[in-house]
Amino acid sequence: MFTRILIFLGVLFYAGVSYGQRAQETFTHQDTLRGSITPEREWWDLTFYHLDILTNPGDSSIKGKVLVRYEVLHPNKLLQIDLQPPLKVSSFVQDGKTLSYKQDGNAWFVRLEKNQIAGEINELLVYYEGNPKISLRPPWDDGLTWDHDKNALPFYASTCQGGGASIWWPCKDHMYDEADSMRITVTTPGNLMNVSNGRLRSKKLNPDGSLTWDWYVQNPINNYGVNINVGDYTHFSEVYQGELGPLDIDYYVLSYNLDKAKEHFKQAPMMLEAFEHWFGPYPFYEDSYKLVEAPYLGMEHQSSVTYGNGYINGYRGNDISKTGWGNKFDFIIIHESGHEWFANNITYKDIADMWIHESFIAYSEGLYVEYWFGKDAGFEYLRGIRSNIGNSSKIIGTYDVNKAGSGDMYQKGATMLHTIRQIVNDDEKWRSILRGLNKEFWHQTVTTDQIEGYMEEHTDFNLKPIFDQFLRDLRIPTLEYRFLNGNLMYRWGNVVPGFDMPLKVYLDGQETWLKFGARGWSSLADIEPCKLVVDKDFYVSSFNLMGDN
Ligand SMILES: [Zn+2]
Repeated sequence: MFTRILIFLGVLFYAGVSYGQRAQETFTHQDTLRGSITPEREWWDLTFYHLDILTNPGDSSIKGKVLVRYEVLHPNKLLQIDLQPPLKVSSFVQDGKTLSYKQDGNAWFVRLEKNQIAGEINELLVYYEGNPKISLRPPWDDGLTWDHDKNALPFYASTCQGGGASIWWPCKDHMYDEADSMRITVTTPGNLMNVSNGRLRSKKLNPDGSLTWDWYVQNPINNYGVNINVGDYTHFSEVYQGELGPLDIDYYVLSYNLDKAKEHFKQAPMMLEAFEHWFGPYPFYEDSYKLVEAPYLGMEHQSSVTYGNGYINGYRGNDISKTGWGNKFDFIIIHESGHEWFANNITYKDIADMWIHESFIAYSEGLYVEYWFGKDAGFEYLRGIRSNIGNSSKIIGTYDVNKAGSGDMYQKGATMLHTIRQIVNDDEKWRSILRGLNKEFWHQTVTTDQIEGYMEEHTDFNLKPIFDQFLRDLRIPTLEYRFLNGNLMYRWGNVVPGFDMPLKVYLDGQETWLKFGARGWSSLADIEPCKLVVDKDFYVSSFNLMGDN
């Protein structure tokens, strides 16, 4: 999603909310239950969910059940399911027997009666109901949004990144373990349609006039990617000839927006073309690609990207790069769809590593611009977004307590990737790394270490200190230099130990690469004092210690 820009802007607009507060943050027992792989989660491997709910916009309620199928990794009798009040579990059932449980805040510990034997596949049914938390500012606040369209028809949807899927359905609410497939059955009033993830298998008219929509996801899916969108939808579609053959594209928009959507959504196949070029095949051909109008700005729901940017380019009409290029595309179509690769294909195990989703996708905006408008345009866009960097809190969050890092995971993370591309200095190699990441970690949950390791191995550069510098430190590297006795002396200042990133500079306009030792001064011989300019695509500053050029 695009949360962090807003939080970042929030810092600008609401002076009382500052990054400095993070230092005093304390975490609760509930944070640990939510954010860690507890013993009651660790022993079972999720394989499948069937979420089956009745939605009632009349009283903002949900009622239904979730079938949780899992493989026993090693025996245990206590199983953790998460569900956030005010929703309530009515019962847990295994093999027809109602089970006892103990509730601890948002975590429900179910006492299983049946022997749990390693390698066996078991099922647990969780019945639940209530009025899920209402999202006050979707998608930044989690929960259900119960809205109405211009014709006064109900228009409602779920959003839950960060807060967690357990805000609206019972599940194993930790990102490390994904269901391998999922069925989503949603009953709505008879004049409305539900769009969820994957493909629509059936629509059933019930005796009371309500409709039941049955969706099926064939691929692994993360919790927050699951969604419902209910409204007076009109559908149109096309087939995109992609890297893996024909890909179904389905559009669901409010009936009165059909004409606008048919024109504006021409950017969806353009997005697919650009991102398949940079990142490799769209990761969910079996589940199709959908763009679904939603009553809020947008979110990267897997294979059903939600859209509410008003059918205009930019981010709500604004160019976040202030270069003009940001108004050449619809920010939400491009950014949220980009997450199909980084977020839904490659997914963080712990939200502390959320940069894996947002840095690559903030960066992908520049790649989209580059693909359609040229390299200079893409680079200009990526330099333009630097004005949104805060540098007041670290990008990596806190592990095991469901705590994401700072909003710099967007533009600063993108800027870091753009800087690494400069040192790789080989466009095809760089593209092969981006594609390679999506192939290596296809449909997986990952850690920062895995991403850093892959990139270091395939660039042949010492990237670890570069990642440390930009993801785990706040300082901007500074090139310190001086001209002395016919030599250019230089070193890195403001950096983490071992930072030796090569740097492209221009000496009186002549391109020169500076190579660094791990510490101390390096030098270039036979250089008379001249004008030194650092290549503008590196995110560093420079300082002439002698002030003499
Ligand atoms: Zn995002």
